[in-house]
Amino acid sequence: MTTAKAYAVSSAKAPLAPFQIERRAVGPHDVQIEIAYCGICHSDLHQVRDEWGGSKYPMVPGHEIVGKITAVGAHVKAFKVGDLAGVGCMVDSCRTCPSCQRKLEQFCEKGVAWSYNSTEMDRVTPTYGGYSSSIVVDEAFTLKVSPKLDLAAAAPLLCAGITTYSPLRHWNTKKGDKVGVVGLGGLGHMAVKIAAAMGAEVTMLSTSKSKEADARKLGAHHFGLTSDDATFKRLAGQFDLIIDTISAPHDYNKYLGLLRIEGAMVLLGVPPEPTPVAAHALIGGRKILTGSLIGGVQETQEMLDFCAEHGIVSEIELIPVQQVNEAYERMLKNDVRYRFVLDMKTL
Ligand code: NAP
Ligand code: ZN
Ligand code: ZN
Repeated sequence: MTTAKAYAVSSAKAPLAPFQIERRAVGPHDVQIEIAYCGICHSDLHQVRDEWGGSKYPMVPGHEIVGKITAVGAHVKAFKVGDLAGVGCMVDSCRTCPSCQRKLEQFCEKGVAWSYNSTEMDRVTPTYGGYSSSIVVDEAFTLKVSPKLDLAAAAPLLCAGITTYSPLRHWNTKKGDKVGVVGLGGLGHMAVKIAAAMGAEVTMLSTSKSKEADARKLGAHHFGLTSDDATFKRLAGQFDLIIDTISAPHDYNKYLGLLRIEGAMVLLGVPPEPTPVAAHALIGGRKILTGSLIGGVQETQEMLDFCAEHGIVSEIELIPVQQVNEAYERMLKNDVRYRFVLDMKTL
């Protein structure tokens, strides 16, 4: 075992503060990663503050992890010491259930070992995330990160990147498709970049007029201000696909009105409270309301390779780990352009 420095919370009301954790000894299939950077996802904030219920403390958040491999187990095949590597939301799964066999480990029927606020598959050992100096992970859940990408700006690909790439692929986004992205935050800005790279005609649907110029720079072709009801009339029936990344409760019915016949709206954001959906918002036009959860390990690698090929990384604000509590407050005030990334050198 090795000791790692970390930032943790002790309860839903406590701020993040310095903490020490033990990382397991490197097993035959494990790699040890010295964490260079870790992104701050809105899911970190939801879980730190127990907004989804069932949070486990002490909690070391962080599932947008990148760094360098410092040790490998005897049977590790795909990695060597010195390689760049990434870890996302999962560190293990049962590997045998139908979902795992389909490479959809995120839907493992035995329950995923999430990177934090969870346990290893023994259901006893707590998992601790990336707001820490190192991590030990099975190579089967470790991703290769191209040296072509800026490493700090690549960190958010491990959650925000795959979470938006996966539904865009699943719904077969292709040249000329009209895609609406709702909410220009960490997930939203990745959705814009990736959908544009896939050839879609992208419309940013945002409550923030001040983000319009940025949305266009990121690759959006159009902008719709969602605080203005006229936008919903103007864009009614337009979209093949809507990717909804809003973290707070909002009216899905309004956005369903923007779909064409048989279009799909994918929920990615996880507001703490449910929202009613009217049947008439779906039946007139046989519309589809669905959701998506990150992506499997293989698809995450495919996304990282796609981003390396297209030169796609996140727009980040790199901060010392000591500013993490302030970053959470700014994220809640919608004051992030467009992902905070913690510089773990400062830990
Ligand atoms: P974020 O950076 O905070 O972005 C959320 C965006 O939603 C904001 O930038 C804002 O965009 C919009 N928004 C926020 N509050 C709003 C409100 N009250 N009404 C309308 N719009 C509002 O968050 P994120 O890290 O992208 O995460 C977004 C959500 O996705 C979170 O709930 C997170 O837990 C979830 N998530 C899900 C998955 C998954 O696998 N499904 C993975 C990661 C994260 P505008 O200013 O443009 O309106
Ligand atoms: Zn996340
Ligand atoms: Zn499984």
